[in-house]
Amino acid sequence: MRILVTGGAGFIGSHLCKYLLDQGEKVVCLDNFFTGQAKNIELLLKNKNFSLLKLDVTEPFEIKVDQIYNLACPASPVHYQKNPVQTVRTNVLGAIHCLELSKKLGGIKVLQASTSEVYGDPIVHPQREDYNGNVNPIGPRACYDEGKRCAETLFFDYFREGAIPIKVVRIFNTYGPNMAMNDGRVVSNFIVQALRGEDITMYGNGSQTRSFCYVTDLVRGLVAMMDSDGFTGPVNIGNPGEFSIRELAEKIISITKSKGKIIFSPLPADDPKQRKPDIALAKKCLGWSPEINLDEGLIKTIAYFKTIL
Ligand code: NAD
Ligand code: UDP
Repeated sequence: MRILVTGGAGFIGSHLCKYLLDQGEKVVCLDNFFTGQAKNIELLLKNKNFSLLKLDVTEPFEIKVDQIYNLACPASPVHYQKNPVQTVRTNVLGAIHCLELSKKLGGIKVLQASTSEVYGDPIVHPQREDYNGNVNPIGPRACYDEGKRCAETLFFDYFREGAIPIKVVRIFNTYGPNMAMNDGRVVSNFIVQALRGEDITMYGNGSQTRSFCYVTDLVRGLVAMMDSDGFTGPVNIGNPGEFSIRELAEKIISITKSKGKIIFSPLPADDPKQRKPDIALAKKCLGWSPEINLDEGLIKTIAYFKTIL
């Protein structure tokens, strides 16, 4: 098959492209390199089954493919808040252009990388797919949260209108090799700071929680979802192990034996207090569950950052 991955030069996209190539598929990576990195796909470019299109999903595109994974969108608050209007455009126009392409090609499978952020600062815990969330529509995170929610809306409207085989995956915090050093997310920030012996920047008192999924587990989930038949989702893909940000810092300090101390600054606006996926649906419909726990995943990720620092 020939498979389009938008955002394929990014952190998750580059792992997905490699996984698909390893399965013997042909992969077209579409990326505007806003947060993508050339080094993530350097080795993939040597593979004759891999091609790169430097394009922006906010413009329509026509490519003959058999499946579409739509991952194009900055994922870290630092990057998606840099140009919030562009973030909304990427989510909304990107979704429309992928769905239109699917329609033009006779209704090919199209998967949307949605997010746990559609649950906002959740009042229901853990989060199940039938929870409609608690999002502040006018806050600084809204360009991402509402952009992703609108993309889900578009996917389901196209599905109802034209029976396009859509797939919506709500991805929870994911980490691993190929995260950019300046990504700004907590795992990469803490690891880079710890390896440099710098202080660890904790926002708030560190009692807020997240559930961290290692990237190879996530990629298996995305592909299982694409390969499923007659299942639109939305489905949560994430690791249900829940850790406070303070626990995460302590693990990273202990593995790296860092001398840096924890320094505190105010919690950003609308920062969710807790997050943990209920993955019963993914287990039942996809036979998927994560295999790599946080300690194992952090050791692998720290080893990667040591090679690039
Ligand atoms: P990333 O920032 O590393 O990758 C995003 C990629 O999309 C980059 O290569 C970037 O250059 C590209 N891109 C951005 N805007 C684009 C545009 N307008 N046109 C073409 N390409 C564009 O982020 P990631 O962590 O790999 O996330 C990938 C997807 O998964 C995103 O859609 C994100 O919202 C979703 N997601 C990620 C996480 C996570 O924890 N990493 C959690 C939930 C959802
Ligand atoms: N965070 C932190 N220090 C950092 C970066 C992030 O304490 O250097 C916190 C952030 O405020 C949030 C959590 O870690 O509570 C996860 O942040 P991230 O941006 O990785 O993911 P998201 O908030 O989008 O889940």
